[in-house]
Amino acid sequence: MSDCCGVPQQTGITTPGEKVTAEAARCAECGGEGRSVPRQTVLHHVRSEEYARVGDEAYRFCPSPNCQVVYYGDDGGRFTVEDVRELVTAKASGDERPLCYCFGFTEGDAREEIARTGKSTIPTRISQLIKEGMCACEVRNPSGACCLGQVNQTVKCLAEDHRTATETATTPLHDCCSR
Ligand SMILES: [Zn+2]
Repeated sequence: MSDCCGVPQQTGITTPGEKVTAEAARCAECGGEGRSVPRQTVLHHVRSEEYARVGDEAYRFCPSPNCQVVYYGDDGGRFTVEDVRELVTAKASGDERPLCYCFGFTEGDAREEIARTGKSTIPTRISQLIKEGMCACEVRNPSGACCLGQVNQTVKCLAEDHRTATETATTPLHDCCSR
């Protein structure tokens, strides 16, 4: 598999000065280290029928593509992809995969534009909107982080796949952006 989507894993990101207790910081399911998310972000994304399970614990987002856990708490609470309202970028694949939650761009949007023009204007459009103060990633993105890094990676990867397909007249064997 090509590693062109070698997204610098957003693991191990901690707020400066934050004391990381190894155990609590790790996802009990996959062992990956997640990033802290505000309780408000968890409440925003968890389905209403799961609200009662949102406690006072400190929640983290698990970024592992192969792990079903989206949020885990330091007191054992857990919400999976089944418990949240929307597809999670890191854990979804295909055209429906959301890239930007604030402005609603999907992987399909980027793929279609790249197929047509060879490149995508989505990162520039998002940057512009961020500059205008229109971004609410901390709440709207389930990861609690800005989508732009992920968007840039995906667009770059899709463009590379497109180039490969155009130059060799074959369909790339992998869909490296949809892991
Ligand atoms: Zn996990």
